[in-house]
Amino acid sequence: MVEICPVLYIIVPCYNEEAVLPVTAPIFREKIRGLTQSGSIAGGSRVLFVDDGSSDATWDIIRELSEKDEAFCGISQSRNRGHQNALIAGLTEAVDRCDITVTIDCDGQDDINAVDEMIRAYRDGCDVVYGVRKTRKTDSFFKRFTAETFYRIVNSMGGEVVFNHSDYRLMSSRAVKGLLEFEEVNLFLRGMVPMVGFKSTSVGYDRQERMAGKSHYPLSKMMAFAWDGITSLSTRPIRFITCLGALVSLASIVGIIWALTVHTMGDTAWGWSSLVCAMFFIGGVQLLSIGVIGEYVGKIYLETKHRPRFILKDTAGLPEKADR
Ligand code: UDP
Ligand code: MG
Repeated sequence: MVEICPVLYIIVPCYNEEAVLPVTAPIFREKIRGLTQSGSIAGGSRVLFVDDGSSDATWDIIRELSEKDEAFCGISQSRNRGHQNALIAGLTEAVDRCDITVTIDCDGQDDINAVDEMIRAYRDGCDVVYGVRKTRKTDSFFKRFTAETFYRIVNSMGGEVVFNHSDYRLMSSRAVKGLLEFEEVNLFLRGMVPMVGFKSTSVGYDRQERMAGKSHYPLSKMMAFAWDGITSLSTRPIRFITCLGALVSLASIVGIIWALTVHTMGDTAWGWSSLVCAMFFIGGVQLLSIGVIGEYVGKIYLETKHRPRFILKDTAGLPEKADR
């Protein structure tokens, strides 16, 4: 049963954002006010700021906002742990205090007005609503190209990421509870949320320029994040080595036959055939062996994540558990 008038928590990770917080906090506040007045969300809905170990005045600003207005609250992490961990911290604190969460960046790049449509989709029975960028007009060609290539690569590697969705999304509390069962520490939320399941949909929005301050994601950090995403979702790169090893081994047999043929024709320098045969053979076998070992390492890797084996959506006619 979907809660008709849900309590909403807007979760906003902030890292050294003293320049932009005073600009965007009133915008988030206004959204809460508007949605409450229109009866879309219940009283008690809040903006939850997550200070990700900032070294500037970010936490002072959050504390001040929370003292003045009960629609604001905040948590502060003991040190900087990165955007994804900040989101998990916020979701963990919010999940038992609300019915739905929306995670959004604090720099005003994601259009907060898309939340209206997200809530409509939630009321229509969706547990997860992805905010998807309709346009990337404010991004440079290079940024657009690398970002879109990234989504394609992850999907071709067997990951399941929603095209052009970053971390702007609505989740019901049961979907958040499902997500929190994933115990992995290398977080790549946009790949993990689809694994949680439940009915989902997307809502389009136009990505804006940052309202103030500057990005914490230079190209090098973006690339590291993308690589993390691929390797934490997929063990296909290991499978690739195994396939390459099998191919090289196969080619080595052809190479050995060729070297022996040339040898019997007496057309070679002394020792050449045996050297070439050994080289082909050892190369192929080594690559194949690394691949096979890699397959097991991949399995161990997935096991150590302790991912939930299932997440229930509903039950029917199931009696209460008895103490036996
Ligand atoms: N952020 C964070 N911890 C970090 C880096 C960034 O919580 O270590 C937050 C940041 O305050 C912002 C969001 O993550 O709310 C996105 O960061 P940013 O806008 O710098 O990235 P971009 O939009 O340029 O990719
Ligand atoms: Mg940003």
